[in-house]
Amino acid sequence: MTDLGGFHDNVARVDLSEGSVDYESIDQEDAEKYIGARGLGVKYVFEQGPDVDPEGPENLLAFMNGPLTGTQVTMSGRIAICTKSPLTGTVTDSHHGGWSGARLKWAGFDGLLFEGKADEPVYAVVEDGEVELRDASHLWGQGFHDTRDALEEEVEGSYGKNLSVMGIGEAGENGVKYACIMNEDDRASGRGGTGCVMGSKNLKAVVVKSSTKMPKPADEETFKKGHKQAMEVITESDVTAPNEGGLSLYGTNVLMNATEEMSGLPSKNGKYTSTADARNDGYGSDDFDSEKVSGENVRENILVDEPTCHSCPVACKKEVEVDVMHKGEELNVRTESYEYESAWALGPNSGHTDRDEIALMLQRCNDHGIDTIDTGNMMAMAMEMSEEGKLDDLETIDWGDSEAIVEMISRIAHREEGLPDLLAEGPRRVAERRDAHDNTLAVKGQTMAAYDPRCMKGMAIAYATSNRGACHLRGYTPAAEILGIPEKVDPVEWEGKGELTVLFQDMHSISDSFDICKFNAFAEGIEEYVMQYNGMTGRDVGEEELMQAGERIYTLERYYNNLNGFDGSDDDLPGRFVEGHEDAVPGQGGVEGSLVELDKLKEEYYEVRGWVDGVVPDEKLEELNIDIGPGTGVSAGDSAAPADD
Ligand code: SF4
Repeated sequence: MTDLGGFHDNVARVDLSEGSVDYESIDQEDAEKYIGARGLGVKYVFEQGPDVDPEGPENLLAFMNGPLTGTQVTMSGRIAICTKSPLTGTVTDSHHGGWSGARLKWAGFDGLLFEGKADEPVYAVVEDGEVELRDASHLWGQGFHDTRDALEEEVEGSYGKNLSVMGIGEAGENGVKYACIMNEDDRASGRGGTGCVMGSKNLKAVVVKSSTKMPKPADEETFKKGHKQAMEVITESDVTAPNEGGLSLYGTNVLMNATEEMSGLPSKNGKYTSTADARNDGYGSDDFDSEKVSGENVRENILVDEPTCHSCPVACKKEVEVDVMHKGEELNVRTESYEYESAWALGPNSGHTDRDEIALMLQRCNDHGIDTIDTGNMMAMAMEMSEEGKLDDLETIDWGDSEAIVEMISRIAHREEGLPDLLAEGPRRVAERRDAHDNTLAVKGQTMAAYDPRCMKGMAIAYATSNRGACHLRGYTPAAEILGIPEKVDPVEWEGKGELTVLFQDMHSISDSFDICKFNAFAEGIEEYVMQYNGMTGRDVGEEELMQAGERIYTLERYYNNLNGFDGSDDDLPGRFVEGHEDAVPGQGGVEGSLVELDKLKEEYYEVRGWVDGVVPDEKLEELNIDIGPGTGVSAGDSAAPADD
């Protein structure tokens, strides 16, 4: 058991096959070594055995908060969902904001572990340290928003006040590999197919009901000092200052114009590095312009509200409302999160910049519970494949056909026969079945986000080495490469980016395990993290020890993946970014001719990590005191990973 502050020492293990619930305490050493949320969640998933079928009953679906979740710490409403991904076959953790993580803490829990599979659809109600399973047959087949509304009535609460509903839409029920778990309005644990795992367990929703009961810090003085210092740096930052900083004013979409200008905005499935380059090459009319979908444009024209998460003064969520014509009908659309990466994937990367239709796409994705980034990338992949004649026997989709995209989102969620059913399988399986490896912007089977690796070499190695497949949030190097945090680095230069990426990956492992929003790191550093963590838990760790915990968590994930057969050959990038492509030429505009120096980046990165060709040697496991599993069998002195046998 653990007596650390910030914990309840209470995790529910729910066996859905049996309909039973057990309550477990947390091992003190685990709480210290793996912090909480992501770190502890991955440890639970690891203990289930790395070789489980992601959609089988034996896979574990862990909903975890951390010692700082639901406290006064800024941006601390988050929750980590950890499982083995049906999209990538790796371990994955996917977080969302709002209040559900905080409410889970206030309801008396550090985590919920779901295993098995219910005979019939169920939902879980979490309240006052107890979990109860109830029938959800009447909700099966409904979108997320109707499900949430129905459950608010049934459980008698409101998501604005005392209740959070996390659940799946049709995509999760139907096994779409990149289905997500939605929360409250439009917050999503988007990446890795957590919603697909939830659907495979016949678990429609998790309802958490609680009043606000913030945990008391174990060392109040240290906590207060850390919190005060954190608030000061957040208020002074150009990025996070409430109502003044770029993130606060425009949300994540503050980056759309910035990446366009620096030629870092992949456009038309990464053929171009900006919409201007596409226009210069004769694609589209003047209408194909990323400014039309930028944060500035959204704020000026369609913004209606700026919701926030628990304990967050930044309020980066940008809620929009539009009247949009779709298939001859005027639709009123209101949606909460007009995010940069989502708008990019469904917009410029899919060959159009129709601002209002993107709002409709976002609403559809959120209601069906399907990841906006993967969905947009699948559209772009299908458009490029259509152009190359690879889908002639099924159905084709034209570049920039925004009406078709809106329809295709719903058709994928319902796995309509033909192209939608194929696209629901995700990029790796589509590539394998259709000889379309060149058409996908994916790493380890998950698609990348809105940062062109030809322009940002840190992002290139971060995509390649991300443990959950291509992802901008495992190591957010654009903080340094675009925003100059902690200091400005040349985005196109490769040297030093391995080290920079390791630093960001380890820092994010810490914040994801606290679990607090990683946007704190636009202002805070390890000093503020240490003070608040020590203050809440009562521990006395130094900066080095906390950074090592971040390294341990990242390494544990890599070790899990190694046991599933992943090695350095999987730390790859789409060929067009490394060797070029007959159509997708090397970077244009400000990064004319640039390709990714992947081999050099990987060499530098592995050296900093102490890994052998992407594999964690046993000496490293020992150094980090990771004492579970059989080891990888690789030694630090080896020059390459052993054969698969
Ligand atoms: S910065 Fe944005 S995502 Fe992060 S906690 Fe605040 S509102 Fe939520």
